[in-house]
Amino acid sequence: MSHRVTLIPGDGVGPEISLAARRVIEAAGVAIEWEEAEAGAEVFKRGDTSGVPKATADSIARTGVALKGPLETPVGFGEKSANVTLRKLFETYANIRPARQIPGVPTRYDGEGIDFIVVRENIEDLYAGVEYLDTRDVAVALKIITRRGSEKIIRYAFELARQEGRRKVTCATKANILKLTEGMFKRVFEEMAPEYPEIEPQHLIIDNVAHQMVKDPAQFDVIVTTNLAGDIISDLASGLVGGLGFAASGNYGDEAAIFEAVHGSAPKYAGKNVINPTALILSSVMMLRHLGEHAAAQRIQDAVFVTLEEGQAVTLDVARQAGDVEHATSTSGFADAIIENLGRAPQTRYATKSAAATSEPPAPRPRWTVGADRAAIETRLIGADVYTEAYDDPAVVGRTLDEVAGPDFRLLLMSARGTMVYPTPSAGVDTVGWWRCRFVAAEEGGTVDDAALLRLLERIGARVPWMHVQKLRLYGDEEGFTRAQGQ
Ligand code: NAD
Repeated sequence: MSHRVTLIPGDGVGPEISLAARRVIEAAGVAIEWEEAEAGAEVFKRGDTSGVPKATADSIARTGVALKGPLETPVGFGEKSANVTLRKLFETYANIRPARQIPGVPTRYDGEGIDFIVVRENIEDLYAGVEYLDTRDVAVALKIITRRGSEKIIRYAFELARQEGRRKVTCATKANILKLTEGMFKRVFEEMAPEYPEIEPQHLIIDNVAHQMVKDPAQFDVIVTTNLAGDIISDLASGLVGGLGFAASGNYGDEAAIFEAVHGSAPKYAGKNVINPTALILSSVMMLRHLGEHAAAQRIQDAVFVTLEEGQAVTLDVARQAGDVEHATSTSGFADAIIENLGRAPQTRYATKSAAATSEPPAPRPRWTVGADRAAIETRLIGADVYTEAYDDPAVVGRTLDEVAGPDFRLLLMSARGTMVYPTPSAGVDTVGWWRCRFVAAEEGGTVDDAALLRLLERIGARVPWMHVQKLRLYGDEEGFTRAQGQ
């Protein structure tokens, strides 16, 4: 059976490594009709600020599968990352990055049997890219975590663990500090874990995960985490098992899957035919499993491992580590060696926790299952945080706001970057002219309505500039906001 796949060669070293991957896939006997499509630097240069032309998006919508080279992101301009745009366009909510010891690739952890998978939420969190300059000198970003997004990725992680016969899923969050956002992720994890009684659920704070990963990486099996944390620890994980040249990844959604190396476009090596194509070739192995081509996937993985294990051909990055750059193989020469080795099996078979090594199950694509019906929870408006800009002493600003609060509201407190500065002043707080001013119903424990809130904003605006407003709600008995430090 022939498959249709969108091929995005990408920027920098992208065309070289995608050619290598394509040649290896074809040599393994998989029939693929490639739809070549563009994205990235050239597209930005033509003035398309998304970096992803419609023809490319249409192609992925048709094929449902893409193999892509790295895409350059213009830094510091208004343009969004084309990589992030692609992930979002197709709601590829699960970013899967295996970290597994590879035969013949020297690491500091040789023999420890590292074999774990980072399951990173790929859509939400700070990567929603919702940012504002609240004042000339104060930038804020919204960290968006949803119950639905958390359920999808956490279920994915448990299903992946079940399918691969793995025993433990570690949920890594910063829930100790970010109680509502990261806390929601942790709560969904704890709610879902009992559905998988054969799998040990574990929660660790993300900084401890970083620490443990360096000290004893073999303890991990599956790690599920939010977007930014996942981005960072999955790169850390790549470093444990040989570096970016070897790190593969897949972005899975319900409608499409996009496979790519973890590394970027390495512009200084572009066109030089020296870069290591292993990461994209191993990403192609993930793609072939997704397409149901398990035998070909295994043949390619084995051939890559034989090539690395025997060390007949090594690319510049590996040769440099061995202090022997003279004998480095080119990107195309390395692909030739892999093709040559198709049909051979590596000597080293690391003990693996993953049944994937033998039975090669397809990547799971469980659908989101609706959680508890939460619509019945009563919602009450009890106040609002109004963000203001003022450069006076907080006591002066506070007294002004006290004057305008009534009759429906009272000013409960003002905080500067999360710490209360009014009515109780905090010594040593550096103020930046950006205040969170918390107004609550004048009557103790009372509620307010939108009309009263609009009148309050009008009164505040006459005295102090305000930038945005956040309603304070109760969901049942649960406070939909955090308290200020020192409150
Ligand atoms: P990079 O991954 O391109 O390069 C970092 C370093 O890693 C390079 O100096 C290179 O020595 C090494 N390296 C990377 N891939 C290698 C390989 N296959 N073999 C051997 N060595 C390799 O990261 P960067 O320099 O931060 O980013 C360059 C561009 O790539 C930026 O525009 C960035 O936005 C983009 N980027 C794209 C993706 C993606 O498409 N998914 C990911 C990361 C970065």
